[in-house]
Amino acid sequence: MKIISDIQELRDHLRGQNRASFVPTMGNLHEGHLSLMRLARQHGDPVVASIFVNRLQFGPNEDFDSYPRTMQADIDKLEKEGVYILFAPTERDLYPQPQEYRVDPPQQLGDILEGEFRPGFFKGVCTVVLKLFSCVQPKVAVFGKKDYQQLMIIRQMAKQFALPVDIIPGETIRAEDGLALSSRNGYLSIEERAEAPELMKALKEVRERVIQLKDRNSHSISEIEKAAVASLAKRGWQPDYIAIRQQSDLAPASNEQLQAGEPLVILTAAKLGKTRLIDNLEI
Ligand code: AMP
Repeated sequence: MKIISDIQELRDHLRGQNRASFVPTMGNLHEGHLSLMRLARQHGDPVVASIFVNRLQFGPNEDFDSYPRTMQADIDKLEKEGVYILFAPTERDLYPQPQEYRVDPPQQLGDILEGEFRPGFFKGVCTVVLKLFSCVQPKVAVFGKKDYQQLMIIRQMAKQFALPVDIIPGETIRAEDGLALSSRNGYLSIEERAEAPELMKALKEVRERVIQLKDRNSHSISEIEKAAVASLAKRGWQPDYIAIRQQSDLAPASNEQLQAGEPLVILTAAKLGKTRLIDNLEI
């Protein structure tokens, strides 16, 4: 595997490749990331991964400085997966000048759910992803459904800018007890780690309640959401949201759409101690 930090050197190495498959990450790689590398291999060649902890997407009180950085272990894992190039730029490589041009996703997608609780987050994500796409120029790029809203926003960005990149979704990989793998799980204490699968259990309960709801209407939907938030809070969580939304655009489902059986997704973010976890479940 070639490890490259310089944009020009990356371009030199990829010259003539028009089927490259790309997996952007922030490192501290786990099975979830590695499953995306395998999916990438099915859709293109060579596979290019990136590791870059993107300052632009962190809020002032978030964990940019303490975000886990485990480069050597990550390199070993990527080599085993047959990744051809690891693009691991420094901040100076990727942002040689202050990044003043930004990609601002539309409010109705970028300022809801995660965007409401992490202002500017998706602006930072879109900006770095567009820049990484411009460096790698992949034919396909793979993103995890674990970050459901992110996947949707990147898809829309690619569509509206007519980027020549197919966005491929990867399923969420979980620990045996149901907890979605995440680099932030490492922040959890032993007690918190034992409690953490309750987030997925809450999503499953919500899904059961929505399925059982014969007379779906938006009023009863919001009651299910509120009850789920309350029961997590009772267990000591600080939930930001549990929201039942339409899969197509993450908007709240109207009565008509609910009755018509539109595909829905339940999205959640909640803090356990100091660690903020997110997850989602499709209905
Ligand atoms: P991150 O390093 O957290 O920015 O994530 C890089 C990519 O891995 C994103 O597309 C995530 O959605 C994806 N990802 C993170 N956790 C998982 C998981 N448990 N299963 C599948 N994909 C994941």
